[in-house]
Amino acid sequence: MNIQSKLAILADAAKYDASCASSGTVERNSRAGKGVGSTSGGMGICHSYAPDGRCISLLKILLTNFCLFDCAYCINRSSSPVARARFKPEEVVKLTLDFYKRNYIEGLFLSSGIIQSADYTMEQLVEVARSLREDYDFRGYIHLKTIPEAAPELLALAGRYADRLSINIELPQDQSLVLLAPEKNAGTIRQSMGVLKNGIDEYKDNKKSAKAIKSLTPAAGGSRFNHAGPVRRRAKVPIYAPAGQSTQMIVGADSSNDKAILTTAKGLYQGFQMRRVYYSAYSPIQHASKALPAMSPPLMREHRLYQADWLLRFYGFSVQEIAGGATRPNGMLDLDIDPKLAWALANRQLFPININRAPKEQLLRIPGIGAVGAQRIINARRFKVLRFDDLVKCKISVKKVAPFVETLDFNPHLNTLDSHNLRQQLMVSNNKWAPEQLGLF
Ligand code: SF4
Repeated sequence: MNIQSKLAILADAAKYDASCASSGTVERNSRAGKGVGSTSGGMGICHSYAPDGRCISLLKILLTNFCLFDCAYCINRSSSPVARARFKPEEVVKLTLDFYKRNYIEGLFLSSGIIQSADYTMEQLVEVARSLREDYDFRGYIHLKTIPEAAPELLALAGRYADRLSINIELPQDQSLVLLAPEKNAGTIRQSMGVLKNGIDEYKDNKKSAKAIKSLTPAAGGSRFNHAGPVRRRAKVPIYAPAGQSTQMIVGADSSNDKAILTTAKGLYQGFQMRRVYYSAYSPIQHASKALPAMSPPLMREHRLYQADWLLRFYGFSVQEIAGGATRPNGMLDLDIDPKLAWALANRQLFPININRAPKEQLLRIPGIGAVGAQRIINARRFKVLRFDDLVKCKISVKKVAPFVETLDFNPHLNTLDSHNLRQQLMVSNNKWAPEQLGLF
């Protein structure tokens, strides 16, 4: 099979993997004429945009779609009747460099089915990254999907060459994994995530101490000596997955509700310092097991989970507040309105919030006010007591916030917050602005 035909099969097989953001890595470039490629300190999801407006694209492929395992939800499972192909590591290296030189991509996202053994597969993945970095001085972005069953030494090696490592948690609940992917083991997955976390933590600590030592050198105005004697410049800290680790969870393949999904995500953020948890709506596959649903969940569910995830990480909400209790007694997020608005409507007694007095954490709970808007309000109120029109100057959508805020000259009509059709009214005005959810592929 020629390389183009393999590429057609293995790029198609990789499309089910949603976890390929290129954010948060170290900055590298080849401006001095050394090496090939560059990374920008920006953000991006396969085809996304860096802060300077550049589209970041990654070559997203599998090393092979042959697999020993038979995970029921996976198109590449051993019993799936799909066309199979396998790249040699040197073919992936060549493709990456060719695509890079043609300016098609800025990095590589590489995953794989499991062939021969977990260690053998991981060795092949690591070899691609090693060869790119060491043989060709490739400085672009590399994201390696890691095989959880592989030996810790191989995971350590992967971290030396890749910007980001990821291990899929696969399903929100361990019992679903037992049912749908019996060859996988939730304990092994978490153990390997722990290995990656330790490597990443160690790298960060080493970087911090190297920085502290550097700040003591005469050039930075510090003392040349510490209690142990003269300070020498330290060797460069060996890199270990500087863009951290991420994971992916399939949504809608089992009966887990959104509360269970978000609880698992929260545990992964806290326990393993994940940079991102990706939510991937289950796509029905050919000859699927009867244990799987016949239809994929609405893509809006995936979108709402990402919004809820954001609220958990940056807005101080708990899972119970947005996907449980009075807000969502059935544990499912509202598909018609975003989770923050759903929470506000279920907790109307907490509103209106006084824009001039509320602390930042409270401002962040107002539907229509994000982190930037909250900061603008805080900055503006240092100079004056804010009126309703000042919200426009803070670039806040007054239509969205009006029922929930009070200012010097504005208080929502008492009956606005009590009105039964407030949800309906807000849905109409929000939907005017709501971006349409696009399919991932
Ligand atoms: S191990 Fe990965 S590639 Fe293989 S069947 Fe399971 S999910 Fe698919």
